[in-house]
Amino acid sequence: MPWTLGVPLLADESLSSWLVRAALRQGCDPLALTGAIWPGWRVWTRDVDRDIPLARLSPLVKASGIPAAKFQQAALRGACERINGHPLSDNRTWPWLLALGTRNRVRHSGQQCCQLCLAQDATPYFRREWRFAWHVGCPLHGVTLIDDCPVCQAPIEPHRLVAEDGHLSQCSRCRFDWRHTACTPISQDTLRFQQIADEVLQANPVILGKKGVTASDWFAATAFLLGVIRRASHRPASALTHTLRSLEIPVTEGLLPVTGLPFELLAVSERSTLLTATQRALDVGLVEIFAAFRKNEVMATALHDPRKPPPMVIRSIMATGTTHQKTPRSGLQKPHQPKSERAVRAAWARLQRRMKTEIP
Ligand SMILES: [Zn+2]
Ligand SMILES: [Zn+2]
Repeated sequence: MPWTLGVPLLADESLSSWLVRAALRQGCDPLALTGAIWPGWRVWTRDVDRDIPLARLSPLVKASGIPAAKFQQAALRGACERINGHPLSDNRTWPWLLALGTRNRVRHSGQQCCQLCLAQDATPYFRREWRFAWHVGCPLHGVTLIDDCPVCQAPIEPHRLVAEDGHLSQCSRCRFDWRHTACTPISQDTLRFQQIADEVLQANPVILGKKGVTASDWFAATAFLLGVIRRASHRPASALTHTLRSLEIPVTEGLLPVTGLPFELLAVSERSTLLTATQRALDVGLVEIFAAFRKNEVMATALHDPRKPPPMVIRSIMATGTTHQKTPRSGLQKPHQPKSERAVRAAWARLQRRMKTEIP
């Protein structure tokens, strides 16, 4: 049976936001609305912003009068698969998408919002991009996003609102209206990574280390760099940390997330510090950073978990470094030629071996 009150899905709105708005507009709890559309399917125990499976779309299309294609466009799966370069499994954390940490209907984190965007909306709604892990601020309003209630620190869980609440710019625990809470300004420097990553998501190819790569290569390379910076902040006295500092990439204890959790589970404040440092590293340039690692005899094992080899784009930059740079041992400079994947793998293995043997 179609709803009497239509609720349009807005161009940049997340699926969960729309479902909650649709429920409140019909005067019912989000849980009651989704229970009526999908009896027996516990939609709020999954991350509905990722997508609504095709097999589940038909009752929603009938009730809302919105075509299935619109729901598919609003889903984050397409963007996330472009970022990762391959299909993503439902049961795992998706790299670069904030994880909800769902246990039954209760969440630990994963939703962010800008209070000033909510304040200017005729009907407050949540943007799709607020779910991306590289989003830490609002470029429109120059403020930090909030990822928990500024009053009671509860996670942002609009699906737990009830019919009487009326709008979703409020805490589902303490009911405080976030449009009336103070905002924290964010610097342009902190927003730079976010703005570049947004552009990368739309572009193909993108430039990295002076060559064209895919968006998924770019995200893989920056995730690797971010991991290197996190590892360095664990080891303040290491050659790795010394090298990064010599390139004016800030590596401090302040970068160390207290929990040690994966990036997609970190608080907005922790992510924004890490991304600011990662952007500085991108400004220096990957080729230059790896040349400095070689010069300072930073072992490859210091850079990453040995069970997780660097992405191909990084291996290729490292291999390029070995041919471009004059090595202290051999003094040889070979001309640069395009390399096959096999050659890059071999060069990487040689580099690893040499780095190990050159350490006294
Ligand atoms: Zn805003
Ligand atoms: Zn609250």
